[in-house]
Order: sequence, then C-alpha cells, then structure tokens
Amino acid sequence: MKCARRTVIKSVAATALLAALPELARTELARPGQEDENNVNLYADDKLAEYGFPDGHPLGIDRQGAFLREVEARGLLDKVATPHSREALREEITRFHSDEYVARVATAEEQGLSMLDGGDTPVFPGVYRKSACVVGAALDGLARVMDGQCRCTMQAIGGLHHAGRGHAAGFCVFNDLGVVIETLRQVYGIRRVAYLDIDVHHGDGVFYAFEDDPDLIFADIHQDSRTLYPGSGREDETGKGRAAGTKLNIELPPFSGDAAFMPAWERVEAHLRAFEPEFFVFQCGADGLKGDPLAQLEYTPAVHAHAARRVVRLADEFAGGRVMAFGGGGYNRTNLARAWTDVLGELVGGV
Ligand SMILES: [Zn+2]
Repeated sequence: MKCARRTVIKSVAATALLAALPELARTELARPGQEDENNVNLYADDKLAEYGFPDGHPLGIDRQGAFLREVEARGLLDKVATPHSREALREEITRFHSDEYVARVATAEEQGLSMLDGGDTPVFPGVYRKSACVVGAALDGLARVMDGQCRCTMQAIGGLHHAGRGHAAGFCVFNDLGVVIETLRQVYGIRRVAYLDIDVHHGDGVFYAFEDDPDLIFADIHQDSRTLYPGSGREDETGKGRAAGTKLNIELPPFSGDAAFMPAWERVEAHLRAFEPEFFVFQCGADGLKGDPLAQLEYTPAVHAHAARRVVRLADEFAGGRVMAFGGGGYNRTNLARAWTDVLGELVGGV
C-alpha cells in the first residue's frame, strides 16, 4: 500500500509553512489535530530551513524554500500533513552521538570555535539548536510513524549522513539518520532496519557507525570513492564480523547517468529484499544530478522518482509501508527541487 492516497489533512503547522511562502497561493486550512493513518508528514518549517551555513556556503539556508516552491507548484502541499519540528533533547541525540561530542557542539559558540571539523563544517550562529532541530523533526516523524499517525515522512533538511558518533564532517553536525536508527532499536524495539542512500557521496557516518551491526541493512550508490569526498565506500566494504555481507556499496564512475544507476538499483533492491527489513530509512541526496557544483554524476530526476517508487513498494511488502525520506545533499537548487518533489510525489501515491 502506498502512502496517503486518501483524506487530505492539514495541520496548524501548515499555517506557518504557507506564511513562509507569501507569494504563493494560500489554500484553505482544514481542521487541526486530525491525522490519517495513511498520510505523509512533510517536515519543512522555518526552523528547519535555518540549518545552513553563511557566506555563500553550498549548504545555504535557501534550499528548503526552493524545494517548497516546487512542492506548491505541483499541488503536493494539499496532500501532506505538515507538523512542526522540535528541538531534540540531549539524551535523544546521545542515543547515537557521544556525550563528549554533543557537549562540544553545545559549547562551540561560547568557546569561539570556528570549525567543528577540519574545514567543511563551520560553527554558525545557533549551531547546536539548529542541528538539534533537524534531529528533533526526524524523531517527531518517527514517533508518528510508529504510533500509526502516518506511514511516511519526508524531511528535505536532514539526512546528514557524514557526521560520525564523535565528530562533525561534510556539512553535517548531528547525524539525524543515526539517531533515528538507534531510536528504532532502543525505544521501539525494531532491529532490522534498511538504510538506503542515493546521495552522490558515500554515507560514511552511518556506514562506519554500523559496520559491524548485522541488523543494519545498508545499501549506498555513490560516485567512485577515488574521485570524491569522503573517499570511502569501496565495493569491498561489505560489513565486518557477523555483519559481513549486510552492507552493499556501489561505486559509479564520474559522468555516469541514469543508464548506470538503473542496473545498480536492481542490485540494491535484491540486497534489501534478501533481509526483509522492518523499516526503511531513505537518504535521497540530489547531488548526483547533472549540474551539481560539488560532484560529477549526471542523473536526471527520473533516478529519484524510480528509487522512491521502489522503496515505497519494498516498504509496503516488508515494513507495513514505513518509510522515512531525508533530503541529504544537493547544491543545485533547480535539481534538488525537482528530485525531492519527485520523491514526495511517490510517497503520496505516484503524483
Ligand atoms: Zn552528498
């Protein structure tokens, strides 16, 4: 079963979301507080938009707005619920991250740190609060999926897959994906989780955190590790110890396009299917599309539509339809708007 083919519900949060798009047509808001067990929750409020870096950094604060304008233009805002994000609690963030690292981020501004890592991830005003908000939105979505209020979530500003348990990396402060996976285990008792990543960069923060975990079913299609940050995700990295064989890394040469992605996807699907995951976490970075300023793959948005359609089908088959989608990377605003809107369209039923 796909998500949200039925009743259109809008939450109070939609008011704030539409207020952020004053140039767009406003639509009538429905009664607050109602939920549809099959709907999709879209997390895209003003707080999430603020996660970004200043001074022309590729991960600026305008990415969510570019996505939302496309969502509105395609008529999809009417088909999703839009709950508020919230700031994650410290004890929630430390389900994945070390206490020491979380404390370091929390005090980074007062200590005058300029960088959280070797140079990609600057300290910015409100860095702790804004990073905790990305995690909190993901946990709010997870809670709603797990208690049956919705089947799927989409969060464009999220999917921060480079952050490790004890460090920032690659524009990623807190790894919302890792916190979701740990929360599934520690709070909800779900162990066999599929993590699927089509961002052009390897999801190293997730991969190495769970490299020896046999119940984290990992599949990641990315640009050849010899040609792009972070330089990991070789095809012979398949998991360690009891987890050997549970991780699939597929590398595509620079300038590969849809013709290379599609057969790679078939390998991903066979891999995921073999383990029958109970929950799907989907990092759908848009930086593999042709024209991204930071990478050299040449996908069209058809890649994201295809992957999302198949993830929804797999989740329906194995996981009661439970999918959480995260935007991840993507630095060409036209590309990210099209790719992520295609993903959202598939989540709500192939619009
Ligand atoms: Zn990326």
